[in-house]
Amino acid sequence: MSQTVLTQQDGSYGTDVTRCICGFTHDDGYMICCDKCSVWQHIDCMGIDRQNIPDIYLCERCQPRSLDKERAVLLQQRKKEHLSGVCTFN
Ligand SMILES: [Zn+2]
Ligand SMILES: [Zn+2]
Repeated sequence: MSQTVLTQQDGSYGTDVTRCICGFTHDDGYMICCDKCSVWQHIDCMGIDRQNIPDIYLCERCQPRSLDKERAVLLQQRKKEHLSGVCTFN
């Protein structure tokens, strides 16, 4: 996969944007896409069971709900440390 630089100049909207409550935009390997606004979010941050991914998913903006943002931030901070190569799993 090549690095994609997103530019807003062509006016394209809603394509492959990662916006998650954790504030991080890295791909942790478990992402989910909102069916309404096409934004990508971390499954773990949104409290979704990896074994039970819903057919139709809506982000917290399209379907407002209470989420544990602090937990999501901590979670992804730890993941990022692993992703940056401190140690490798599998
Ligand atoms: Zn996240
Ligand atoms: Zn949405």
